[in-house]
Amino acid sequence: MLPFIARHLVCPVHEWLLGRRTFRYLRELERSQWLAPDDIRVLQRAKLQALLHHAQSNTPFYRRRFAEADVDIEDPEPVGALGRLPPLGKCEIRASLDQMLWRDVPGGLFEHNTGGSTGEPLIFYFDRRRQGYDQAARIRSHRWFGVDIGHRELYIWGSPIESNRRDSVKCLRDVLFNHRLLTAFDMSPQRMDEYLDEFDRYGPVCLFGYPSSIALLARHARSSGRQLDTGRLRAVFVTGEVCYPHDREAITSYFGVPVADGYGSREAGFIAHECPLGSMHITAENVIVEVIDNTGELAPVGEAGEIVVTHLDTYAMPFIRYRTGDVGRLRPGRCPCGRGLPMMDVVQGRTTDFLYLPDGTVKHALSIIYPLRELAGVRQFRVTQHEDYSVTVDVVADDRTGRITREAVARRVRPVVGERVDLRVDLVDRIATSGSGKHRYVISRAGPGATLAAENEELKVGV
Ligand SMILES: [Zn+2]
Repeated sequence: MLPFIARHLVCPVHEWLLGRRTFRYLRELERSQWLAPDDIRVLQRAKLQALLHHAQSNTPFYRRRFAEADVDIEDPEPVGALGRLPPLGKCEIRASLDQMLWRDVPGGLFEHNTGGSTGEPLIFYFDRRRQGYDQAARIRSHRWFGVDIGHRELYIWGSPIESNRRDSVKCLRDVLFNHRLLTAFDMSPQRMDEYLDEFDRYGPVCLFGYPSSIALLARHARSSGRQLDTGRLRAVFVTGEVCYPHDREAITSYFGVPVADGYGSREAGFIAHECPLGSMHITAENVIVEVIDNTGELAPVGEAGEIVVTHLDTYAMPFIRYRTGDVGRLRPGRCPCGRGLPMMDVVQGRTTDFLYLPDGTVKHALSIIYPLRELAGVRQFRVTQHEDYSVTVDVVADDRTGRITREAVARRVRPVVGERVDLRVDLVDRIATSGSGKHRYVISRAGPGATLAAENEELKVGV
């Protein structure tokens, strides 16, 4: 597919068919990024005021919450009023989901189930407006690197290849948009060789995926002396987990292009993205990012705390002061790139280990996270791989969504770890978080990379 046709015909028609005004939003965002910081704050204020009005009028949950916190939605400084609201946690969303929804939202409600970043699955709803704005923000950030709709994108991403109808539709869409998907779930040395062949055949303009997976591929390519034709490549976009400096270095030094980190989540939206000067710019037209300390008060600019997000375009189910569970800080000043968008750093977010199979296959943690979080009756889980490759899965049951058994969990996990690995499932009352309060879904003590990854050393895959 020619990039021109994808950009000017296929993609606009696709968005129009879905009822998303993505291209109108994109035009807005292309302009507003160059506004002065004060003008961006004016824009934010107007959108926040509209959202607060909507939440008050159409959702019983927020009506009650605003009354309890004494929030005046007519406040001319709504960002200040926002500060009076207690941050919103996943437990409250679970308990009050029905009360948070606006069922009359134009275009309808769409359900999504996510593990979020804390290892506890969460069901939430979104709408076309929210999707359109997130999509537009993503396109804008890729344009910062000269990558546009219709350019060849190679994804190394967590998607098990299944042959149901939905996936065939997705495959067709990938062809039309010039996307190609390679699964990040199986990264054996042989599979990575195939990926490198695919890279040479396809000649992508950008690579997109988990930093850990792309770094693994880069290290593999380097250690096997492989020379790739990277002539067309303009950037490597990474997201979904923390991008460690050693992974960034491995990727840039092998591929010879900038690595651009994107921060966001399914439930909280497209929150921030790095520009070519390395500043992570907040999508301030769509989200308000606050950082709070452990007493729940706003942390001073420059100091680290929990990232709390208000998505200004979530009308189906407003996310107002949503606790992401990630740690970050707001950065003072203005980026020399000229954009008026404020800046932040993500200090700590989702950390995932790989799982190692005795035959040398390296599995991304999401290959085990996805099947588990889709299982009814699971509230929280942790997968621990021991030095002898054996795997223990701890599960906290959630009787409200179904009854869970050890056997049901094992049936989901067995295909991922294979027959040669000892597997044990324990139903437990609670799972302790690490010292930082951050939950890790998957911890591996097996294989060469598990401990080395944190120590900035080279991974030797399949040893
Ligand atoms: Zn910048």
